[in-house]
Formats: sequence, C-alpha cells, structure tokens
Amino acid sequence: LNPEADHFNSEEFEYERALRPLSFDDFAGQSHVLENLQVFVKAANLRGEALDHTLFHGPPGLGKTTLAHILAKELDANIKITSGPVIDKPGDLAGLLTNLEERDVLFIDEIHRLSSVVEEYLYSAMEDYKIDIMIESGPNARSVEINLNPFTLIGATTRSGLLTSPMRARFGISNRLEYYSTELLSDIVIRSARILDVKISQQAAIEIAGRSRGTPRIANSLLRRVRDFAQIKGNGNIDLEISKYSLKALNVDAHGLDDMDNKILNTIIDKFKGGPVGLGTISTAVGENAETIEEVYEPFLIQKGFINRTPRGREVTELAYKHLNKNKPTQQSG
Ligand code: ADP
Repeated sequence: LNPEADHFNSEEFEYERALRPLSFDDFAGQSHVLENLQVFVKAANLRGEALDHTLFHGPPGLGKTTLAHILAKELDANIKITSGPVIDKPGDLAGLLTNLEERDVLFIDEIHRLSSVVEEYLYSAMEDYKIDIMIESGPNARSVEINLNPFTLIGATTRSGLLTSPMRARFGISNRLEYYSTELLSDIVIRSARILDVKISQQAAIEIAGRSRGTPRIANSLLRRVRDFAQIKGNGNIDLEISKYSLKALNVDAHGLDDMDNKILNTIIDKFKGGPVGLGTISTAVGENAETIEEVYEPFLIQKGFINRTPRGREVTELAYKHLNKNKPTQQSG
C-alpha cells in the first residue's frame, strides 16, 4: 500500500524518497519535537517496550511521514505504511495488525479519514493490543479475541480538528509540526542539492527556500525544476540568476503563496473590504472547507504576516495589499 500514490506519480515519489532524511541528525528543524521524541525513543529502547502511540499533525509536506520512518529506524523496528482511506473494513486492519512483530510501527497517514467502524476497531488494538476477529463462516461463525504483539501506531493528519476525541486520547505522544523558516529550508535545499550532485550557491538556496511556503516538500520540488532550467538554459550549476529566471518562468509567487492562499487574500480584500470577516464566510466565498482553511492555509498566512486574527474575524494586513498590488481603501471618518 502506498498512501502517497494518490498525490504523486512514481517518479516524484522516488525523488522524495531519495531526499528523505533517514536519521534524527539529518532531519532539519522542529527541534522541540525532535528533542522530546529522542527521549521517548531512548526510554522505550531501554525498557525494551514499544514506543507509545504517536500522532503527528500539521500541514502537508512538513515531515510527518519522514519522522515515522526515522522513529522506526531508531526503534530498530519494521514499519508498515497505510492510510486512512485505504482501509475499507476492520478485516483489512486485522490483517495488518496481526502481521506486526513486537515493537513494529504501523503508520497510518490521513488517520482522520478512517471510517468510524475501522476507527472503533482500532481502539482495543491500541489500548490492550487485542482485537476480535471472526473465524469460520456460516452457522459456525464466531468472534474470538486474539492478542497482538505490542506495537506503535503512528498517525499523521493534516486536520487534527477532524480527529475524534476518543482517537486523539489514545495517542500518548502528540506533536504539531510547524512551518520551516527560510534559513532552515535553505539548509534542506543545500543538502538535497548535494544528494542530487548539483552545485548550488548559498544565495540561490535562499531564493528557492523563500518561495517554498515554509514547506520542505515544496522546496525540494522547486529545486528539481530549477535544476532542469540550470541544465538546459544555464551551465548546470544553480546560481541566483538562474534560480530567479526559473522561478519566474514557473510562475512561483514571490512569497511562495499558492493559489488558495492568494484566493483567500483576494476574497477578503475584494468582497469584504479587507475584513474583519468570519471563517465560515470566507470558507463559503472561496469554496474550501473551514477546517482546512484554519489548519492548512491560515497558519502560514498568519506566520507570514498577511492575515491577523481579531475577535471579530480575519483581517488582511498592509503587507497583503502590497503583495497583491492593491490599494487599501481609505478609512471614512465620521
Ligand atoms: P508529510 O508526511 O508531512 O506530508 P513528508 O515526510 O512526506 O511530509 O516530507 C516531504 C518531503 O520533504 C520528504 O521527502 C523529505 O525529503 C522532505 N523533508 C520533510 N521534512 C524534512 C526535514 N525536516 N529535513 C529535510 N527534509 C525534509
């Protein structure tokens, strides 16, 4: 099962895999999360126990899957990978669970998308390492309880708000991943360039990093495109000039905002005079789910200083007007 097949063609998938950090040392940023995880892993290893069930939440491309792989490696355990929408029925899950060896990791991406029957089935597995399975069929069919090997469930979600509270309560460890600074992203770009064996200048790495929406996955994929331009239009090396040229040709926003980010800002300005306007209203106007706006788009826009949250709703800032080349309506006095 390859949860990422939904989003990527296999070439893209292979590219990501090649650039994926394999150890805590290679993983840039998220230092607070990392420090804690290292303690929990050491303790679990010392006691010879399975690591507590661990939840990662945060926007796509920030390293949730990568961390799951790193944890499995540091636990010296196998990892099985699946995703919420792929597990149709409890039987699918039972198959996965009964095949886990002691201390193995089961990674469920998009865990908020598990169906409620499957989710409930998971509860006893997580809590007591026990599940009920049906044996035989017809008139002899009955359910028996079987013991599982102690394992670690690692769940990842972009939308922690959609996780049920019983599910959330069953994770002993819960971490929110944050957007990366330009500095960290430029380190990631330089590391990736080294793996790809392409020369890159510091300035070029910063240029690419600054347009990557705080997201390592985007930084790596821009690097890949810029490398193409450098090869075909330049001398193969990535310098500031070829980076700027490529990013312009790729139509990448100066701050790395994506279409939905810009749509949200434009909507608040054009339809609501810059705000304040409520989340629900924005959601209807841009045609995107309110939780997704709140958990995926808004945190970045706030971090970059394009939006403020006020008690009366969301408001765009001066910076947003400037970025979109729009005039701020002058305040009417009186
Ligand atoms: P998520 O599961 O949160 O969507 P991934 O773990 O798949 O994100 O990360 C996407 C890509 O970004 C990975 O292939 C990896 O190369 C890169 N990446 C993510 N986090 C980091 C990091 N902290 N340091 C270096 N590269 C990273």
